[in-house]
Amino acid sequence: MLKRLINKLLPRSQPRDPLKIIPRDEHNVSRRDISPAALRIMKRLEDAGHQGFLVGGGVRDLLLGGHPKDFDVATDARPEQIRRLFRGSRIIGRRFQIVHVRMGREIIEVTTFRGHHQQSGNDDGMLLRDNVYGSLETDAARRDFTVNALYYTLNDFAIHDYTGGLRDLEKRTLRMIGDPETRYKEDPVRMLRAVRFAAKLGFSVEPATAAPIFKLGALLENVPPARLFEEVLKLFMNGSATATFNLMREYHLLGHLFPATEAALQAGDEQGLALIEQTMANTDKRVRADKPVTPAFIYAALLWPPMRARADALIEDMPPQPAYQQAATEVIGQQLGHTALPKRFLIPMREMWDMQHRLVQRRQPQRLLEQSRFRAAYDFLLLREASGEKLDGAGNWWTRFQEVDEQEQQKMIAETRGKNPKAKGRRRRPRKKTNPDQAPSPSGQE
Ligand code: ATP
Ligand code: MG
Repeated sequence: MLKRLINKLLPRSQPRDPLKIIPRDEHNVSRRDISPAALRIMKRLEDAGHQGFLVGGGVRDLLLGGHPKDFDVATDARPEQIRRLFRGSRIIGRRFQIVHVRMGREIIEVTTFRGHHQQSGNDDGMLLRDNVYGSLETDAARRDFTVNALYYTLNDFAIHDYTGGLRDLEKRTLRMIGDPETRYKEDPVRMLRAVRFAAKLGFSVEPATAAPIFKLGALLENVPPARLFEEVLKLFMNGSATATFNLMREYHLLGHLFPATEAALQAGDEQGLALIEQTMANTDKRVRADKPVTPAFIYAALLWPPMRARADALIEDMPPQPAYQQAATEVIGQQLGHTALPKRFLIPMREMWDMQHRLVQRRQPQRLLEQSRFRAAYDFLLLREASGEKLDGAGNWWTRFQEVDEQEQQKMIAETRGKNPKAKGRRRRPRKKTNPDQAPSPSGQE
């Protein structure tokens, strides 16, 4: 009886895993694979009498034989002390303070060991501040997953493991440190991180770590849209977008980030699903080939199913062009309440969407071809066709139009003119003195 009560009161992380120190000859993390900037920072911290450990994705990915994209350093030095040690460093004051140290082209995140936080959460258990400092051991306990809490030191090149991270790494398991439910409540973004790492690393999520996600997903709606935008980038632009997207749906998380998208997919929009899946697959291919990808395209695809559904409803009462305009404005407006999308991505996305109708109509094709957004809009058109949308062969037409010489282009234009007049006036209501070629500009910005 008493035992049960004690078990109930004690956080599930107890008893802690004992500290394991894995000497250099028993692991494969080599200085040669660590960025010189991170090494210099660790060395300088040590020389100044502090501790400096490599931690997080850098250690994890090196142990897995991968090539980490960034390196994080943890230290007992306080943010002010770190800042004084490194010229060109900045304290970034988010929920917890971290210091960005710039060395050449690299920026290394240096964080002070965190301690056990005092009660400073809101009613949902969300941590508002997390600035209590601590030791290496408390720092390990405050990290998210065991495989992210492995520390590498230049002192003896050993790895320090307080949470059983190495065992989980070997088992390819993602396990939350401490009581998963509490930790998700403290910071709901950890649910997205679970999905992201599971997808990226191909790890299975340990059952107790997975279970609370199904019921706590709605907590993501309390996270500021700007932070969620950052997470969306990490979710879909890390080379594992396909796996991530599928897991997001499996864990019922997509609906908390992109509610209109999830609703359209649940309503059975097979084409929409195919369009998104194809976009994710293409994104993965590009990322893996080191080609640029833009959030504008990813958002354009994710929001296309609800946008089209809304436009189809509006088309009952108005011509297609303004219907698409209004649907786009509404769907984007709703989405921004969940995840932000900075203007530098929002505008291109909107331009890509707005060109769709004109690409299908093929009016004044030369002018369209000259627009800066043509290439992206054309790619999007091809994707729509590939996903089964019936667009009157517009994709092939545009492919050919770009390949042929000017004379042939003129012929193609003449042919479509022959077809188009009927199409033009089809749904239009009679308007006062309207020149049909001066329909409102689709993007409203030309
Ligand atoms: P990536 O390969 O995406 O960089 P990462 O594990 O390095 O993966 P970061 O976001 O760079 O992830 O964070 C660095 C480390 O900080 C993590 O490995 C983890 O130990 C810790 N961390 C980051 N975000 C959280 C969080 N929300 N809660 C607890 N610990 C976190
Ligand atoms: Mg990292």
